[in-house]
Amino acid sequence: MRLLDIKNGTVIDHLPPGTAFKISRLLKLEGYNDVIGLLINVESTKYGKKDLIKMEGRGLSEEEINRVALFAPNATINIIRNSKVIKKVKIRLPDTIRGILTCPNPNCITNKPRENVENIFHVISRNPLKMMCHYCERTITPEYFKLK
Ligand SMILES: [Zn+2]
Repeated sequence: MRLLDIKNGTVIDHLPPGTAFKISRLLKLEGYNDVIGLLINVESTKYGKKDLIKMEGRGLSEEEINRVALFAPNATINIIRNSKVIKKVKIRLPDTIRGILTCPNPNCITNKPRENVENIFHVISRNPLKMMCHYCERTITPEYFKLK
């Protein structure tokens, strides 16, 4: 087995260069007690440079995939079994995201703790990515994404 090869787990490929640290934080990989590989600024034939995250013994939930998609809309998820890729999934951000992002508008109903309203954002543009709050219609771009 080569260094950083995954036997049974997940490889998240085609992350924009420099995003692997951020994405590993939002997947809460710190403290995980099996092999984790972060590859930063790897040469890629498709996009110039890319990052990768390799995780032994771990998959991704649908919510985690959506979190990755917010920052890496072109990422690919490879499921590895017995050191072979058995499934490749191209990430796709759903048209509506619930509960992951917070609204930057302090007057938005979702920022009133007493109301207990779930955050809902709609994708209004994919390239460049823009999301709109369902309640106050505030538009946000990735540099203003704040995760719950
Ligand atoms: Zn709002």
